[in-house]
Amino acid sequence: MPVNSRGFIKRNLLTILTCVGVLSGVLVGLITKNSSSEPWTKRQIMYIQYPGDLFLRMLKCLIVPLLVSSITCAIGSLDLSMSGKIAKRAITYYLTTTISAVILGIILVTTIRPGVIGGDNNFATNTTSKSDSKKVYTVDTLLDLIRNVFPPNIIEATIAQSSTELSPPNGNTSLPLYLWNFKQVNSTTTNVLGIVMFSVVLGTALGKLGSAGKPLLDFLVATSEAMMIITHWVIWLSPLGVFFLVVAKIIEMDSLAIIVGKLGAYFITVMLGLFIHGFGTIAVIFFVCTRKMPYGYISQMGQMLATAFGTGSSSATMPVTIDTLDNMNIDPRVTRFVIPVGATVNMDGTALYEAVAAIFIAQLRNVELSFGKLVAVSVTATAASIGAAGIPSAGLVTMVMVLDTVGLPSEDISLIVAVDWILDRFRTTINVMCDTLGAILVDHLSRHDLKDKPCPELGEPHELMELKPANNEKEALTFVKQSYGSL
Ligand code: ASP
Repeated sequence: MPVNSRGFIKRNLLTILTCVGVLSGVLVGLITKNSSSEPWTKRQIMYIQYPGDLFLRMLKCLIVPLLVSSITCAIGSLDLSMSGKIAKRAITYYLTTTISAVILGIILVTTIRPGVIGGDNNFATNTTSKSDSKKVYTVDTLLDLIRNVFPPNIIEATIAQSSTELSPPNGNTSLPLYLWNFKQVNSTTTNVLGIVMFSVVLGTALGKLGSAGKPLLDFLVATSEAMMIITHWVIWLSPLGVFFLVVAKIIEMDSLAIIVGKLGAYFITVMLGLFIHGFGTIAVIFFVCTRKMPYGYISQMGQMLATAFGTGSSSATMPVTIDTLDNMNIDPRVTRFVIPVGATVNMDGTALYEAVAAIFIAQLRNVELSFGKLVAVSVTATAASIGAAGIPSAGLVTMVMVLDTVGLPSEDISLIVAVDWILDRFRTTINVMCDTLGAILVDHLSRHDLKDKPCPELGEPHELMELKPANNEKEALTFVKQSYGSL
């Protein structure tokens, strides 16, 4: 083997192994599934998925300590105006990309018209409308979203978030939803939004405290570093973990023959949208802001993208995402601020899918959507993607709110459930990719501000670390002084 390719394999061994894990998972899954005429039982699938589950649990275990320590020390080590600038840049990026994803989705679904393709068939009426999805009222979902930003108890936020549950008064389901009884319940999902908010505020306070806050900041810096070391260990398990997760999912899935006709057209519409958004729209936005195409960076993300695909969770992939950006020499203050927030609120793939799915269902049900309704879909799809947790199929749950906007019942999500698990993996991959490119972009736009404020605790800004040949002795000395302080 030529030395060059041996070096390439060595450098990218983990990425190659993880991608092999995904592909061989699909292959082994298909072979195993077809090897027996009897359907696999839930218990057998659980056994197969078991090693994958352990991997997922390890990643998830890192989320809360990594989230709190990363965000708090990233913000605590920036001054207020600087974190404000980074936050503004990141939010502008999130909003621009999410809205463009939704618009692209709407354009595609209204031109391809997957719900109408192939004439009238009984797809919608044949599909069982039985679903255990709950009734939701859009206003409640939006209020829950904001409620979760302000958790009443930070410990509770690590294990639960609040959601509104509706029940019909005296069992009378014909009453309009706003007359139904409602109560706040805790659902057992980490309230990531609340933890992010708390960490942002704590970081800001520590930044203001100055030297008095240093001990806590040092503690959190050490925690964050330790979490990254553990992440490295866990990452080495990703080829195996991803392999078992994918095998189990493939065995569990219904026959792929369901992806024909209208559902197939819907599947293709979402996939096309994800592809155009991830490699077209984002590339243009990235180029406009940085004058560089993002493909070189994307080619270094294999490990992370395979993990996102394997786990179907932006949150679980977060430690790997941060590690990937560290390897690209992106300023840790940007990464540790932008990635945890992005993994929680910036889900372009999900936003696109929410819009396409809701309009697809409307087409199936022959519900005409006015321009005003389409605008309402864009707004709720954006909100639904922000509200969706970074966990598998969270988008399917928040989609109920988009359906509500179009006047369709929540049971209708059963029409797309069959292909949701696979679309979920692809949209998670795009979600994570867009977050990562966002961090690189914000880092680029903030490079001059950050260069003036090196932060030894969290690592030096990458510009200082770049070794450029000095033109003369004086320049070389200045560089050494800048990098290592006065000698
Ligand atoms: N699984 C997605 C994520 O974690 C969310 C979704 O669209 O369901 O990014």
